[in-house]
Amino acid sequence: MLSADLHTHTDVSDGAWCAEEVVRAASARSVRLLAITDHDEVAAIDAARPIAQRLGITLVSGIELSAQWRETSIHVVGLNINEKHPAIVSAVAAARSMRKTRALQMGELLATEGYTNAYAGALALASSEERMSRTHFARFLVNTGVCGSMGEVFSRFMKPGKPGYVATLWPELADTVATIRAAGGTAVIAHPARYDLQWLGGHAAMFNDFKAAGGGAIEVICPAHSPAEWSVFAAHCRKYGFAASIGSDFHSPRESRVAIGDLPRLPGSLTPVWDTWNTHYA
Ligand code: AMP
Ligand code: MN
Ligand code: MN
Ligand code: MN
Repeated sequence: MLSADLHTHTDVSDGAWCAEEVVRAASARSVRLLAITDHDEVAAIDAARPIAQRLGITLVSGIELSAQWRETSIHVVGLNINEKHPAIVSAVAAARSMRKTRALQMGELLATEGYTNAYAGALALASSEERMSRTHFARFLVNTGVCGSMGEVFSRFMKPGKPGYVATLWPELADTVATIRAAGGTAVIAHPARYDLQWLGGHAAMFNDFKAAGGGAIEVICPAHSPAEWSVFAAHCRKYGFAASIGSDFHSPRESRVAIGDLPRLPGSLTPVWDTWNTHYA
């Protein structure tokens, strides 16, 4: 089966590497099908395309959209999109404005906690004020020794109920799926095991809504999943008729658990998401 990594980040969102570094790393690890899926952004794709072409990698245009489902936020990867489609352009514009407002609010909250330079520090690590993520604040708090790890920042400051957390109302899951489909893409639930849906109807309720909205696939093989969870989500694919996706969710060599392309193959019993596309990938 084709070596694929369909979930990676660059420095236009909260990844540490630029598009070229991501594509080169994928090439070095013999990835043949690579998707760049920045959070609410597509700005790295134009830069990645010629490099991928030169290195013989098929680049899949992607995005990881932040969405709202019931009382939680869900990440929906859009694969094989036309990233210039107006539906994507307007989703990106809306997210940029939300991120800009949210980052200022987070900066104020952290200043109240005594970290007066958190906003400026996080901004210096981001590509723009409109692309600021919790990751940039977390990196700043680790770099300045406030916390020992990214995980510690999230559990002390950046999760719901913690003093640096700002709730954001992202677009509804169904609308997010519609955005991706309008742009010709396949909507994929990112790292499904990561959501705590216990009080919200469970994964079954979320997958039912996703399917009804036109969702096409879920990530089965990703670093957030244990081997037992590969089987759990493979079974969900069969139950709901979803295709399966695979991705490292690579952010940086220091912070990510696995390198680009460093994943086991999808179980042979599942339909890989790329098999649902018109182009045939050998
Ligand atoms: P945002 O999109 O600004 O809400 O930031 C979410 C990002 O924070 C995710 O995409 C992850 O990259 C990162 N993240 C979330 N939870 C954690 C955690 N516990 N440890 C490290 N990074 C995290
Ligand atoms: Mn991220
Ligand atoms: Mn995600
Ligand atoms: Mn991601």
